[in-house]
Amino acid sequence: MDHFLYRDGILHAEDVPVPDIAAAVGSPFYVYSTATLTRHFKLFDEGLDGVPHLVCYAMKANSNQAVLKVLEQLGAGVDVVSGGEYARAKAAGFSGDRIVFSGVGKTREEMRQVLEGGVRQINLESEPEMRLLSEVAASMGVTVPVTVRVNPDVDAKTHEKIATGKKENKFGIPIARAREVYAEVAALPGLDVVGIDVHIGSQLTDLQPFRDAYNLVVSLTEQLRAEGHDIRRLDLGGGLGIPYERSNAAPPLPTDYCEMVKEVVGPTGCEVEIEPGRLIAGNAGILVSGVIFVKSGEGRDFLILDSAMNDLIRPAMYGSHHDIVPVKEPVAGVEYAPYDIVGPICESGDTFAKQRQMPPVAPGDLVAFRSAGAYGAVMSSEYNTRPLIPEVLVHEDQFAVIRPRPSFDEIIARDKVPAWL
Ligand SMILES: *Cc1c(COP(=O)(O)O)cnc(C)c1O
Repeated sequence: MDHFLYRDGILHAEDVPVPDIAAAVGSPFYVYSTATLTRHFKLFDEGLDGVPHLVCYAMKANSNQAVLKVLEQLGAGVDVVSGGEYARAKAAGFSGDRIVFSGVGKTREEMRQVLEGGVRQINLESEPEMRLLSEVAASMGVTVPVTVRVNPDVDAKTHEKIATGKKENKFGIPIARAREVYAEVAALPGLDVVGIDVHIGSQLTDLQPFRDAYNLVVSLTEQLRAEGHDIRRLDLGGGLGIPYERSNAAPPLPTDYCEMVKEVVGPTGCEVEIEPGRLIAGNAGILVSGVIFVKSGEGRDFLILDSAMNDLIRPAMYGSHHDIVPVKEPVAGVEYAPYDIVGPICESGDTFAKQRQMPPVAPGDLVAFRSAGAYGAVMSSEYNTRPLIPEVLVHEDQFAVIRPRPSFDEIIARDKVPAWL
C-alpha cells in the first residue's frame, strides 16, 4: 500500500498533485512519501511487538538525509555497509548504539571510524576480517560487540544478482563451519561475541527460505550456547520483497513475516534485529519522467523519456519490472497500445520496458515509475553528463526538495585539470 493515488484524474503524492512538483523542479525527479515510509517502518516495528527488537533500516536502499531523518525520528536503527553510509547515518542523528555495520569488505579505516564514533555491533563475514577487527579494537583499547554472518546455503529463489545465502555466494561463513569460527572469534581480544547474523538475499517473495534459514540459526544458537557462547542477539537481515507488478500475486506482508519471525526465533529469548531496506523505501517512492518523443518504428513504437538508465538502473541491470503509469489518469474505455519505453542514452540497454501496454501519451506528458523509492536514486550516476535528478519529499500537502539537481557548472567544476595542460 502506498500514498500515490489518482485524485480528480491526477496522480498525487499524498495531498500534493504530481504536476505541481514537476512545475517547481522540472522532470525527471524522484518523489518520496513520508506517510508510506512511516507506515512501512511501523508494520515491522509493531509486528515484532512482544519480542525485544530493533528494526535497522538498510539504508543502502535510499540514503537521503531526509529519508533517514524520518526513520530516525520514528526510533529506527540503521544497517550501514560503508564508512560513507556510517557518516550519513551519524549526520542524520542516529546514535552509534542504533547503527549496525555490515558488509563483506570492511577496511581498517572504516573499522577505526566506527569504533571511534560508536557502533551497536559489527557483523563479521570472514576470519581475516575478525583478526583485523580484533587488532584494530585492541590497539584502540576498546571491545566491540560482534556477530558472525553465517551463510545457511538456502536458495532465496530470487534474481541471481541479489541472492546472498547460497554457498557459492561471497557472503558470510558456511554455517557448517560456524562452531569452529565462533571458537576462534571468542578467543580474540577486543571482540565481544553477542550473536549471529544472517541475510539471504533481496526481493524474496516467499517466507519459506527465510523460515529455513532462521530455523538453522536457532539450532546454531543452541549449539553455540552449549559450547559456552552467550548468544543473546539475532540479526535476521532484510530481503522481504515488494509487489513491483500490481497484476502479480502479492508477496507476503510484513505482518506475516514478523509472525513467522516471532514463532521461529521467539523461543530463543534473543533480542531480534531485522534489516529491511526495499520494503521500507521501495513503494514509498516514484520516479516522474516527461515524454520527449513518441516515435513510430518498424513494427514497434517507442516512448522516449527524459529519464534514462543512469537515473534508474534496475531494468537494465536486473531486467526488473516497474509499473509505468501516466500522471493524468487514463479515461475509462481508452485504447491501450504496446510501446517500448526507453531513455535517450546511446545504449540499447537503456530500455525500461518492452512492448508495454500504455494509454495514449503525447510529448510533454508526465509518466510515473512506481516502486522506485529503493535502489533508484542511490544507484544513479551522471553517465552522459546527465545531472543527478532531484529528490523530493512529500508530507501531507507540503513538499520539499531534499536533493537539488546540480548545474552543469557544478558537475564540470568537480573535475580538476592538471597544471601542465
Ligand atoms: C541489502 C541488505 C539488506 C536489505 O535488503 P532489502 O532487500 O533491501 O531488504 C539488509 N541487510 C544486508 C546485510 C544487506 O546487504
